[in-house]
Amino acid sequence: LKSRLRDPKLFREQGYIGGKWTGGHGEKSFPVLNPQNGQLVGKCPEMDHQDTITAIEAAQQAFEIFRFSTPLQRMNILKRWSALMQKHEEDLATILSFENGRPLQASRSEIKYAASFFEWFQGEAMRSYGETIQSSTPGHRVLTLRQPIGVVGIITPWNFPSAMITRKVGASIAAGCSVVLKPAAETPYSALALAELGERAGIPAGVLNVVTTDQNVSSVGKTICQHPVIKKVSFTGSTGVGKILMEQSSSTLKKLSMELGGNAPFIVFDDASLDKAIEGLMAAKFRASGQTCVCANRVYLQEGIHDEFIERFSKVVRDRMIPGDPLAEGTSLGPLISQKATDKVERLVQNACEHGAEVVLGGVRSSQDAATFFPATILKNMKPTMQASREEWFGPVVAFYKFGTEQELLQMANDSEVGLAAYVYTNQMSQAWRAAELLQTGMVGVNTGMVSDPVAPFGGVKHSGFGREGGRVGVEEFQITKTITLGEL
Ligand code: ADP
Repeated sequence: LKSRLRDPKLFREQGYIGGKWTGGHGEKSFPVLNPQNGQLVGKCPEMDHQDTITAIEAAQQAFEIFRFSTPLQRMNILKRWSALMQKHEEDLATILSFENGRPLQASRSEIKYAASFFEWFQGEAMRSYGETIQSSTPGHRVLTLRQPIGVVGIITPWNFPSAMITRKVGASIAAGCSVVLKPAAETPYSALALAELGERAGIPAGVLNVVTTDQNVSSVGKTICQHPVIKKVSFTGSTGVGKILMEQSSSTLKKLSMELGGNAPFIVFDDASLDKAIEGLMAAKFRASGQTCVCANRVYLQEGIHDEFIERFSKVVRDRMIPGDPLAEGTSLGPLISQKATDKVERLVQNACEHGAEVVLGGVRSSQDAATFFPATILKNMKPTMQASREEWFGPVVAFYKFGTEQELLQMANDSEVGLAAYVYTNQMSQAWRAAELLQTGMVGVNTGMVSDPVAPFGGVKHSGFGREGGRVGVEEFQITKTITLGEL
């Protein structure tokens, strides 16, 4: 990897605590493998409870100064940081593709997307307004201040190794918080490259700390959740782990943001524009090979367009999904993150087929492919009772369900424990509006397959979690509102 980088210093194999690169006190390490071929990308320090405490203490010290930084100073850090990301886009994308298996073109897009959070939050850093409020008591005046909440713990997944970090860290810095970040063990190098660029952007020592770990994840997570200095934990990952973290955080009553799993319905009504819906589904399904929490998981087609849609969509998938080495230009479908992930997709396909689903495309792995590769797959005749109706595919499988009436559709679409994103295609305003209001999700895309945008609050309901990232509320999540009442006026 190093030899492919224009700036090899972006490939950091150490953690980052208190402004210093460190191997951790135990000097143990864990390997990071390239999902495409299983080859070693590099090693990272296996940090533990004690390293996490060191990081938290460094963050606490830094916070005592950083909390008094001016909005302009914080804006300038984010401005320089996003400019550095843009300058080093190719290297950052290469690192991402090596550790995550994402095709290079898509990795470049993620770096742009990741940098766009720093751009958004540099503006928001300048707009931290309080209020003045009429008091109920004569002679009193009430006003509010927004203050940084304190040291924050951030735990991120491997599926967006860069953007999940910038979305949280950008908001933290804008608010004036310091951070202890624990990136996913599969993709630590994107996080460490960001830290290197953050250092170059002038982040004060201790404001950003990166703790890398694989085996010790439970104890590092517990330390972050239970340490009294940490005032907020922002997590993106599975619902199961989110529940553990919430429980662990209860003794110190931390403020939490939980971005957990989804099971997005993608709905196409009879009157929709099919060309646009096909494009929308391509985007909403195949981003990151289907490994995102907002990926279309269940695709509901109204009976009038059902057959035609599947026929046309299958052709587009055949033409456009080009499997191959993520680092080769032109590849549009890379491997999944691990063999375990691929085995899970295969099991879900088998379960669906055993219960009556039909394979339209793909569905079987070939012995010539990497163990982590699953082909673009289309299934029809899906039923709510199948396992895949309740779980996330997290792979390149499009699952089609047929529906008759709007009422029947809403019942099926809302029959899920989780609710993150939903997509609706229709040209009838009233139908779009009703569906958007009645779908039990935190986000709805109407006639679009894209709901992620730094300006837009992102988050879920039900077991998809709570808290919003991005948008104006993105910064508020890292602040407290302090009320000051002035008496005797
Ligand atoms: P995914 O299926 O995306 O890997 P996880 O919830 O397992 O979802 O992982 C998301 C993040 O949570 C990763 O950084 C992972 O290392 C971390 N993680 C996993 N288990 C724990 C735990 N018990 N405590 C704290 N963090 C954890």
